[in-house]
Amino acid sequence: MALHGPLKASIATAWMVGARLTGTRPALTILYYHAVPDHFRDGFARQMDILAAETEVVFADYEGAVSGEQPLVAITFDDAFDSVARNAVPILQARGLPATVFAPSGWLGQKAGWAMESLHDQAETVMPADMLRAIQSPLLRIGSHSIDHVQMAMVDPAEAARQAAVSRSMLEELCGHPVDEFAFPYGSLNDAAVQVVAAAGYRKAYSVMPERIGTDHSAILRGRTAVEPSDSERLFRLKMNGAFCWMPLASRLKRALRGKS
Ligand SMILES: [Zn+2]
Repeated sequence: MALHGPLKASIATAWMVGARLTGTRPALTILYYHAVPDHFRDGFARQMDILAAETEVVFADYEGAVSGEQPLVAITFDDAFDSVARNAVPILQARGLPATVFAPSGWLGQKAGWAMESLHDQAETVMPADMLRAIQSPLLRIGSHSIDHVQMAMVDPAEAARQAAVSRSMLEELCGHPVDEFAFPYGSLNDAAVQVVAAAGYRKAYSVMPERIGTDHSAILRGRTAVEPSDSERLFRLKMNGAFCWMPLASRLKRALRGKS
């Protein structure tokens, strides 16, 4: 049984109320976008205004204290689409917000041709090398999204190791900076894939499972919450407050139930 959007949002709302009542401690929530198409530029700008006003925006690898009044939020983008350079980067720059862009190093400058997570991203093009280099700044970091946008848990270990290591060296050569963060394409990962990424020299790796990250979180793997520039303000606020962190529990429960039947 798949949970549909409205039901998920209702559960998230109930979770938020519960978290407020029980005084759940503040945490870091990492958001991930894919494309930011031209017609969603204004929606994205509104979301960034909300983050700037109501949260403290940090890099996804933040390891400092998690305290204070405002929730901590990090912004990431998977796939390095040129619509992100065109529409999102100027909006981030104008507000001084940090972000990390994860690029599949073998797809630079090409139409996105891998099996898509989201159908409307099929029209997107991955940034060419010079564009990726140009968007870097102290507030804009580049990370790896493998070479070929592969499912790291599905390919054999030697190929997974090549995807992690070669994409890293390609992107480091291109950008002239260390590239030591990795986002798993499709969120495809297992313990072996995380070990492969760590062995290739990455400090942090990111999944697609929502997670509330506390101060003591030193593990390499961190969860993220999917967000779209088309999300309503209500849904966006739920996401930035970590209200979808029950989802990994729900999928573990689902697997356990399936195991029993
Ligand atoms: Zn991707």
